[in-house]
Amino acid sequence: APEAVRDGCIFCAIVAQRAEASMVYEDDITVVFMDINPATPGHLLVVPRRHAVGLEDLDGETSVHVWSVGHQMARAVRRSGLRCDGINLFVADGTVAFQEVLHFHLHVIPRFAGDGFVI
Ligand code: 5GP
Ligand code: ZN
Repeated sequence: APEAVRDGCIFCAIVAQRAEASMVYEDDITVVFMDINPATPGHLLVVPRRHAVGLEDLDGETSVHVWSVGHQMARAVRRSGLRCDGINLFVADGTVAFQEVLHFHLHVIPRFAGDGFVI
């Protein structure tokens, strides 16, 4: 099994509270925090506590839970005062797919008419 915490991984450091993040939700399997460089206002990241790089080494149970939390976050964003017009749920798996942080994460990106964000 992959180790739970990987040295030098910024998201493992956030999970372990060795690095700062604006946390919005936590449970036994995932944490959700604000993206430090948001694509749009309200951009969240759903992150499994246990280190996995991509879909290949993410176990199915965790994958389903990450999606469920992303769904709940999307619904919360819709109900919030952000007044977004839409939402992207987005995973980058692999460097060629624009993954920069090599610890699996689901983006929750509120969308606003004319925001100009292009994946
Ligand atoms: P990726 O391109 O890997 O799918 O997305 C990584 C995301 O993580 C980017 O949107 C980036 O802004 C965000 N990010 C990178 N480092 C940090 C950090 O230290 N803290 C937080 N909160 N977000 C980060
Ligand atoms: Zn990690």
